[in-house]
Amino acid sequence: MVEMINIRGCPYACSFCVGPGEKQLYTKEISGGKRKPFIRGRSVSNVIAEIQMLIDKYGIKSVMFHDDQFLIFPRWVEEFADELHKSGIVKYGLKWVTSSRADVICRNEKLIGRLAEAGLALLIVGFESFSPRILKWFEKGVTVEQNFKAAEICREYNIKIWANYILGAVTDTGWHREDDLLTVAGVLKVAPVHYSPALYTPVPGSKLYTYYEKNNLIDMDYGASIESLSDRGKMAPKLKGVDYDLLQRMMVDDSIFSFSIFMNIDVEKIMEGYSPARNGMDDIAYIKTWSAEAEQRIKALQRRIPLMRLRPMLRKYLGKRGCDFLRYVGRILNLSFRNKGG
Ligand code: SF4
Repeated sequence: MVEMINIRGCPYACSFCVGPGEKQLYTKEISGGKRKPFIRGRSVSNVIAEIQMLIDKYGIKSVMFHDDQFLIFPRWVEEFADELHKSGIVKYGLKWVTSSRADVICRNEKLIGRLAEAGLALLIVGFESFSPRILKWFEKGVTVEQNFKAAEICREYNIKIWANYILGAVTDTGWHREDDLLTVAGVLKVAPVHYSPALYTPVPGSKLYTYYEKNNLIDMDYGASIESLSDRGKMAPKLKGVDYDLLQRMMVDDSIFSFSIFMNIDVEKIMEGYSPARNGMDDIAYIKTWSAEAEQRIKALQRRIPLMRLRPMLRKYLGKRGCDFLRYVGRILNLSFRNKGG
């Protein structure tokens, strides 16, 4: 797979993103030291010519377009899809990957269909969160409903999803484990082919970094300097007040694909009480109840069936993915399902 960039720049200003680097990249200076959004790109013919050259010279089979906002100019994208067909690149079988925001996907449903026909095989979607409170805190400008709708659109056109999401953000009312549970449940419902979680890291220069610094919420015990924040490692604490042990247990990775058939603890059940008309607090209360119920069910099952027998039974009934799921739930709820042959 080769990597290319067609369009550079982003007109949005999510509070967790847009540090000085992005500000330089996304905006340009106008008079009086002010800056305005600066999105620039290559012509469709220029991009097509490069792809054709890469096919002719190296026989490439796939491309990843690393654009900040690939879909930002729908007309450019339409023309690009047409040219992929006309040039014979689609017939050749080139598959490609790019990224987008959920609201942009929702606004361009038909275009997504045309892109799928033109070889779009995987979309990297910055869902960021499935908690209304966190999406608002991140100033993402996207709703939970749009996140789910975008995933539906991808499924409809057989486009695989790579899910980017962030856990461990502290809001002005503190860190709430329910927000991260909602996000994990939402990502599992979306069922991406790749889970790409990140523990929130303050980006110096971003709006949120300024907030955390001002409120003394950056955890300096784990690093001598602000610069060390990104070097601390994915799972290392960065903010005060976050239960990082819990987040570690909640981390979903590629081995967790199936969440649907174990003891009525399934994502549909979690989300069935979710109603767009209600506010975020109701959803959070629902998740709280769900996690307490799940814990009770697992404990009850443990009492009835000795652990030694539980795993082989589940392996037979659920297969390997079911057992992976069991381990996952166990990790979240801090229960041990380890036994012989485990
Ligand atoms: S997170 Fe994505 S949409 Fe938001 S400002 Fe950064 S690049 Fe733009």
